[in-house]
Amino acid sequence: MEFRFYAELGDFLAPPRRGRAFEHAVAPHESAKHAIEALGVPHTEVALLLVNGQPAPLETRLRPGDRVAVLPALRRLDPAAPDAAWRFIADAHLGRLARWLRFAGFDTLWHNAWDDAELVAIAAAEGRTVLTRDRALLMRREVVKGACLRDDDPLAQLADVARRFSLPLREAGPSRCLECNAVPVPVAKAEVEAQLLPRTRAAFDAFWRCPGCARVFWHGSHWRRMREAVGAVALD
Ligand SMILES: [Zn+2]
Repeated sequence: MEFRFYAELGDFLAPPRRGRAFEHAVAPHESAKHAIEALGVPHTEVALLLVNGQPAPLETRLRPGDRVAVLPALRRLDPAAPDAAWRFIADAHLGRLARWLRFAGFDTLWHNAWDDAELVAIAAAEGRTVLTRDRALLMRREVVKGACLRDDDPLAQLADVARRFSLPLREAGPSRCLECNAVPVPVAKAEVEAQLLPRTRAAFDAFWRCPGCARVFWHGSHWRRMREAVGAVALD
């Protein structure tokens, strides 16, 4: 089954398991509480357990294929703090916007299987701003900060988010991985050479690898076109 521990609960985990979902098999007779403690997290630190998006007691017996989200007590969010406003969680319909935000360097969680309860619980635990086109979602009492987007087009949505939260689109930091939101780290060409097409190998010398999903990146024509599009949005 798939486990993900949110916010500071990651401090209890082995580094490769922090901030991401991972597979972990649990024996049929084991409770969620037992599994969570076996992974290193004391049950007293857990405020909310979600199994397949639904709140569940710690004594729940897990089944193969279950998706388990483990959340700490809600963090106090200062809505005025820019770092809080610039960390996002996008609803299931905003996958393309999530990719643009990641490309522009902004920490954005997105998962097409999250339901509303799960999404707002994660937003509250991690102090993230909820992005959605569903105004009912923003009416839930756990939502501290959010934006209801009017436009259908992902780049127009990016412009809207940038305007509302004063995102420095042009001075944004390095791109995050479009697939998994981790921050790629520079990697020596020699280490990735074998994975590259001959044309890429000949044309580029600077490469990055995502620590989350191991994808390799370089600043090719696709990257340049996306950079130009973000620049154009920033000028509006
Ligand atoms: Zn990745």
